[in-house]
Amino acid sequence: MRGETCGTIPAPIWWCQRVESIMPEWPEVETTRRGLAPHLVGRRITALAVRQPRLRWPIPAILRRRLPGQRIDAVERRAKYLLVHTAAGSALLHLGMSGSLRVLPPRTPIGAHDHYDWRLDSGFVLRYTDPRRFGCLLWQPVGRTHALLTGLGPEPLSADFDGAYLKRRAHGRRVAVKNFLMDQGIVVGVGNIYAAEALFAAGIHPARAADAVSLARYERLADEVKRILAHAIERGGTTLRDFLSPDGAPGYFEQELFVYGRAGEPCRVCGTPIRTSVLGQRSTFHCAACQR
Ligand SMILES: [Zn+2]
Repeated sequence: MRGETCGTIPAPIWWCQRVESIMPEWPEVETTRRGLAPHLVGRRITALAVRQPRLRWPIPAILRRRLPGQRIDAVERRAKYLLVHTAAGSALLHLGMSGSLRVLPPRTPIGAHDHYDWRLDSGFVLRYTDPRRFGCLLWQPVGRTHALLTGLGPEPLSADFDGAYLKRRAHGRRVAVKNFLMDQGIVVGVGNIYAAEALFAAGIHPARAADAVSLARYERLADEVKRILAHAIERGGTTLRDFLSPDGAPGYFEQELFVYGRAGEPCRVCGTPIRTSVLGQRSTFHCAACQR
C-alpha cells in the first residue's frame, strides 16, 4: 500500500493499516511480510535506533552490534514471526498484541509508542510502533533456530500440511478437534475465527474428539483451512482496514463469516440458529445441523 503526502507530515511509503486493539493474526503477518519485503530486501541497514528496549523481552544488545552494515537478504515468516535474514544472522520480529511496522521517509516525527527504527541505505526508515509492548525484536544466530520457533507444526499452506498429516497426528488424541487444530504444535496459523470457519466448511462438529475424525474428513478440513487462510491473505493484501470485521477476522468481509460471531442467527446454509459454546476457554460457534 502506498501513502500520499498529506500536509507537512510525510506519509509512509508502506504500511499495513490496522486496528491496534486487535491482535494481528497469521494472514495479517503474511500480508505485512509481503508488503515489507520489496522495501527491505537488498537494502543495507545503516543504523538501529532503539528508544524502548523493554518489549515483551528486552531487545538484545547484539542486534545493535551486528545489524548495522548488514545487507538484508530475505524477509521470511514462520508462524506469526517475521525473520529478516542477513549474512551475520537474523532478526526475529513479532507484532505482539498491538504492534505494527511502517516504512517511513527520513525525519518523520517520532511518536510515544515508536520503539525502534532501522535506518536503511534507501534513506527510508523501518519503524516499529507498539502501544502495549507485547511484541519482540530478538536475534537468531546463523545456522541456529530460535527457541521460540522450535516445536512448531508445519505452515498451513505448505505441502506438509494435509489430511493424512492431521489424521496421523490425531491418533489417540481425545482433545476436541477445534483445540487440536488451534494447537501451534500441530499446525501454525489457525486462530479461533479461522478454526470455527474451517470446521463449519468441512462439516465437522468442533467438540468432536480429534481421533474420531476420519481421514476423508481431515482431507476436507485441511483443504478448507488452506482456502480460508489464502483468502484472508488475498483480502488483507488489498485494504485491510476496509475489510476488517468488528469480530476481528483480518481480511474478511463480515458477511463472509458463516458461524463466527453469529450466535442465534440463522445458518447461511440450512437456516438452523447458530450455537455458541466455550471450548478450551475460547468462544466457538457451530451449526448443529451442518456439523457432526
Ligand atoms: Zn447449517
